[in-house]
Amino acid sequence: MLPDWMGEPFASKDNKLLLSRKVAKRLLHEAQEAFPYEYSALLTGCESAVTDYISMPHSFDKHAFAWDGATFFQALNTIQKSKVQWLGVLHSHPHSPPLPSASDHKGWHYPMLSYWIIGLASEEPVLKLYQWKNGTFVARDYAIIDDPA
Ligand SMILES: [Zn+2]
Repeated sequence: MLPDWMGEPFASKDNKLLLSRKVAKRLLHEAQEAFPYEYSALLTGCESAVTDYISMPHSFDKHAFAWDGATFFQALNTIQKSKVQWLGVLHSHPHSPPLPSASDHKGWHYPMLSYWIIGLASEEPVLKLYQWKNGTFVARDYAIIDDPA
């Protein structure tokens, strides 16, 4: 059984994930600020709604998932303390389309969570959502929701 701070955003079949408009804007902004480096963040919220995030320090390596263990566990600790759920990760592809790369396929160990990629190579940034299913990434729909005033 999963600890309760670990979400299962795709738990109900064919559901649409929800992403807060405010969070979407901020993530996009931070991803553009990190350019030309990869930006990454852990996404948090409840059930299938992403309502907050934790930015991860950007790595100067080729791939953002080279987070060091201490930083990663500290972020998970913050999630547990804030009584929210970890729902997924997001990273940017500064120079390529938002399609999972070979290292994305190799580096993803949490199939129950959502996997988001922001592509910054096009004129307009593109945000895509994927679910890991039967050994591959499957594109999924999401909806942007307005935050309560
Ligand atoms: Zn990637």
